[in-house]
Amino acid sequence: MNITEIKNTLLEEAEVRLFVKREDLNRPFPDNPAVSGNKWRKLKYNLFQAKKERQDTLLTFGGAYSNHIHAVAAVGKSTNFKTIGLIRGEETLPLNPTLEFAKQQGMRIHYLDRQTYRKKHQLNFLEDLKERFGRFYLLPEGGTNQLALEGCAEMVDELDFDFDVIACACGTGGTLAGIIKGLKGEKKALGFPVLKGNFLQKEIEQLLGTESFQNWKLEPDYHFGGYARFDETLLKFIEQFKVNHNILLDPIYTGKLFFGIFDLVEKQVFTPKTRLLAIHTGGLQGWGGFNKRNKFNELTN
Ligand SMILES: *Cc1c(COP(=O)(O)O)cnc(C)c1O
Repeated sequence: MNITEIKNTLLEEAEVRLFVKREDLNRPFPDNPAVSGNKWRKLKYNLFQAKKERQDTLLTFGGAYSNHIHAVAAVGKSTNFKTIGLIRGEETLPLNPTLEFAKQQGMRIHYLDRQTYRKKHQLNFLEDLKERFGRFYLLPEGGTNQLALEGCAEMVDELDFDFDVIACACGTGGTLAGIIKGLKGEKKALGFPVLKGNFLQKEIEQLLGTESFQNWKLEPDYHFGGYARFDETLLKFIEQFKVNHNILLDPIYTGKLFFGIFDLVEKQVFTPKTRLLAIHTGGLQGWGGFNKRNKFNELTN
């Protein structure tokens, strides 16, 4: 359990304490540091299931910069599964750092035009894929399914730590849904969607199924324009966070999470004495796509 406290005058004045659970430092396979963060949590029980089904190949979908694609490629390499990644859009050469890494890890990469990509949930399309690629264990885009929720619930189960509110960034909402399950109706969960639109509430409710909990909420105002969008303000915030706390955030997920938390603290949304626990879900590989600006090197040096 790797938890550190963030201290600054804003938090002090609000009398709020903020802790970070460093899932980004998780190394289930020490020789493969790319397996880490919430993406590992989401894959863990899927791997057990795939083994149980005597599958030897994992197939999944994602965008060209996807943390999920990166994680599946790395996990496959470390657990001796073959991996196939079906990437949205056309091939661009040279490969971006995410796909270059995935290829190095042994992932077979294929591209689907956007129209075909949209069919990824259709049964007959999946049948076609079986004909083309042989038998495989299917991981959905973003890795969210019921087994992923179980893995994420463990982040809460294993906590031996006093907190009132737990917070994470949300893409598909699988991580938050798992956390909500893990809380079993106690304490409070806050999700910070990084995508625009209000579809996520319903999707998380669907993921939770008959287990409806009231102790969670989404904070919809911190997506910065949508998935993979951000501005100078966010980049400055991330830079300053690194300088002040020596923790690197990413511009897609965790940067938005901590920006949102600080903003809510400033708006006095949390009553004094509240203990917040934010999950650093990882995703630092995403900085690879920033090579042009060299932001990552700047921040890590
Ligand atoms: C994928 C990802 C998320 C979002 O997880 P979901 O389960 O899709 O909501 C959050 N943080 C990071 C770093 C991620 O890579």
